[in-house]
Amino acid sequence: MEAAVPRTLKEAVTYFADDETANGFFVAIRWPNGVACPRYGCGSANVVTIKNRNAWRCRECGRHFSVKVGTVFEASPIGLDKWLPALWLLTANRNGVSSYELGRALGVTQKTAWFMLHRLRLALKEDGAPILSGEVEADETFIGGKKKGQGLFTNALGMKKLAHGPATGKATVFGMVQRGKDGKPSQVRAMVVPNHKASTLIPKIYENIVPGSTIYTDALRSYRQADRDFVHEFIDHSVAYVNGRITTNRIENFWSCVKRMLHGTYIAVRPFHLDAYLDEQVFRFNVRDQKDGARFVAGLKGADGRRVTYAVLTSSHPLWRLRPGRAARAEARRRKLDETPISGVSDRL
Ligand SMILES: [Zn+2]
Repeated sequence: MEAAVPRTLKEAVTYFADDETANGFFVAIRWPNGVACPRYGCGSANVVTIKNRNAWRCRECGRHFSVKVGTVFEASPIGLDKWLPALWLLTANRNGVSSYELGRALGVTQKTAWFMLHRLRLALKEDGAPILSGEVEADETFIGGKKKGQGLFTNALGMKKLAHGPATGKATVFGMVQRGKDGKPSQVRAMVVPNHKASTLIPKIYENIVPGSTIYTDALRSYRQADRDFVHEFIDHSVAYVNGRITTNRIENFWSCVKRMLHGTYIAVRPFHLDAYLDEQVFRFNVRDQKDGARFVAGLKGADGRRVTYAVLTSSHPLWRLRPGRAARAEARRRKLDETPISGVSDRL
């Protein structure tokens, strides 16, 4: 059954204000061929509806579940009447939505809104998108605030040099844009990388682009090794920005979208969360030719099969990173809970 999709934020808020409707909508998107048990390793379609609750019982494994189980919404006390408008806001606003704005809009605390946004970013993460081909622009950029007194630094030979890349305390981000083809607009990928050395960037190029494709870059030496298996053309930005088809304007345009989002909306992004913010902007960029409703549905489809817990999210904090066991233990607990047969009513709906 194809659910009717709201067209505007106003329609979405009104439509999803009713929890029953919001649940029904997500059920139709998540299980177009009928409800199936989402528990790890089960997937049975032999389920019965639990009376007076938006939940089911699996006849195979005996577990109870709601439509939230096995999605980024799992175990959240927030109702879909808030989750779905939140996702709408995030997918519709080209510069994203801050946790302060979202908190005010939904009547939840900023902290809750922050966590909601991180879960939603996970839903927007592109997974298994086809490898790039044809004409691809590749480029690197540096994101983050400047450290004080790091405008110049002295290198090993005692020469003063303008700080560049990781030396400035900025994060290095690598991105690739496949130019529009077959009626589809250009598609982007972006990721945080440790540095802009060839040994870092070249493997990323091989992972993400079909060999034999044409790659356009700037004059950075790291890209020269791509000459072997790709048609590689580069433009020296100290000379010109466009030379016929040789330009990196599309990826540069994406970098401006990312920087507008980071400076305008999110202001202070911790480096270890940067990948999540990139995922958010990559998602919006790749479906930018679609209407708000279609973008929202595409985001909602990504909610399935992904979960993130507060412990895992915050465990990337440097202090916690020293105790990597914490996230692993949280994950193991979750797994164990999933694999233990439950009888009676689960409280993890
Ligand atoms: Zn089951």
